[in-house]
Amino acid sequence: MGSERRKVVIVGGGITGLSAAFYTRKLFEENQIPVDITLVEKSEQLGGKIRTLHRDGFVIEKGPDSFLARKLSVITLVKELGLEEELTATNPHAITNYILHKGKLHPMPLGLVLGIPTAVSPFIKTGLISPAGKIRAALDLLLPRKEDAKDESLGSFIERRLGREVLENITEPLLAGIYAGDTQFLSLQATFPQFKQIEQKHRSLILGMLAGKNQSHNVNGLPDIARKSMFLTFKRGLITLIDRLVESLQSIRMITGQGVVQIIRDGGDYKLKLDQGTELQADGLILALPAFEAAKFIPELPEARWLEQVTYASVANIALAYKQEDISFPLNGSGFVIPRNEGRMITACTWSSSKWLHAAPPGTVLLRTYVGRSNSQEWMRLSDQELLSGVWADLKDTMEIAAEPVFFEITRCFRSMPQYPVGHNERLKKLGVQLRNYKPGLFVCGAGYGGVGIPDCIQQGKDAAEQMLTFAQS
Ligand code: FAD
Repeated sequence: MGSERRKVVIVGGGITGLSAAFYTRKLFEENQIPVDITLVEKSEQLGGKIRTLHRDGFVIEKGPDSFLARKLSVITLVKELGLEEELTATNPHAITNYILHKGKLHPMPLGLVLGIPTAVSPFIKTGLISPAGKIRAALDLLLPRKEDAKDESLGSFIERRLGREVLENITEPLLAGIYAGDTQFLSLQATFPQFKQIEQKHRSLILGMLAGKNQSHNVNGLPDIARKSMFLTFKRGLITLIDRLVESLQSIRMITGQGVVQIIRDGGDYKLKLDQGTELQADGLILALPAFEAAKFIPELPEARWLEQVTYASVANIALAYKQEDISFPLNGSGFVIPRNEGRMITACTWSSSKWLHAAPPGTVLLRTYVGRSNSQEWMRLSDQELLSGVWADLKDTMEIAAEPVFFEITRCFRSMPQYPVGHNERLKKLGVQLRNYKPGLFVCGAGYGGVGIPDCIQQGKDAAEQMLTFAQS
């Protein structure tokens, strides 16, 4: 970087961009490097996909509803922001999840770890898999490992180890739910690299998951609450994290309601043009944007064409608030997921008021249904009324709900779920090299690159800040 006082601009005010801003300020301060940080966000609201609605005593998440508790990046940030007391765990009496199979809800067999069976007896008893499917899954204990380290699809890996039935009836609806994706398309290395590592180390996926099961909650630095619950959120919803981050970033300049439309390299600096004419200058730039959006600003790089092509699935979620007396179905769990082959409109339903005790006032029930996955985007043509009719029909069939909700809230999230293709990590490496060579001081991060979960996004924001510091010191 050239001048004495550094100018860093961060584009995108989702969790990745806000984390990048937080850690850039922190690291530069710790290293006594004077810096002016500006964050530019196209929308009026900060937080990106994270949005919480407070209505009539309900806490309704319009995007993500929680994060994986054992990931240190988010726990560290929570501690740094003084938010530990605000954390809340899932209801310990509602941990069972269900899967729809041939029109009926079956409890997920106990001992499933990331959709992989690790306990014999519940797996043998489950009605989700036929006897032949169970025998095929058990072959994992004997099958040799695949020696070559080449990336493959998540679906082909699970099918190779555990068979098609486990893939379609258990793993796909569970894991693909995280990406709203097609497991036959998603990259194993970019989504669940631990599966490949387990195969390399233990040969059998089941035995390897079993060996790792007891270690997973023993990560150093986790607070008690994170050891007890797989997922965490905040008592007033995930927006708490965004609000506190923004509060802590008082000293940086925030421009909201204006999108970046052009970035040009001018000598050693970058010049940015915003859609209302504002111009900014930066010697360091972090693009915390969806991949297709970032690609527009680096068109001359060969890998930009690939970035543009990272597809994003569109999804919607429909929250429905009911009076308790209108729901007779026993909500003794956290909800259910639906495999593709069931042919339903909804892909899952979270029993939010059972899963999270803070989500609904006493005497009420909050459900959240999900629509849309990759290769299944027809829902986008539907009006709100058509969408609702489809959701109600599915809830009637699966949970026998006949009553109308007291209110509902539809959230459409267009191009919101990145689909990492096979070879994604290799392309990322190439992109990194091209950026270093042709765009020094420009870093990309966010859900389109190194993980979609909130903790992964925070980690990427932090990594970008560290790269910025190294660049400033070079
Ligand atoms: P975004 O949140 O998309 O932020 C990017 C920002 O860039 C946006 O605010 C956008 O307005 C802005 N922007 C775009 N273009 C420009 C421009 N030209 N100039 C300036 N600004 C621009 N993760 C979990 O861990 N747990 C969950 O339960 C979970 N559930 C999810 C449910 C849904 C419905 C969705 C959509 C995602 C879910 N995720 C979940 C994933 C997670 O929420 C996202 O991956 C994460 O929030 C993305 O953060 P980000 O900052 O990378 O991107």
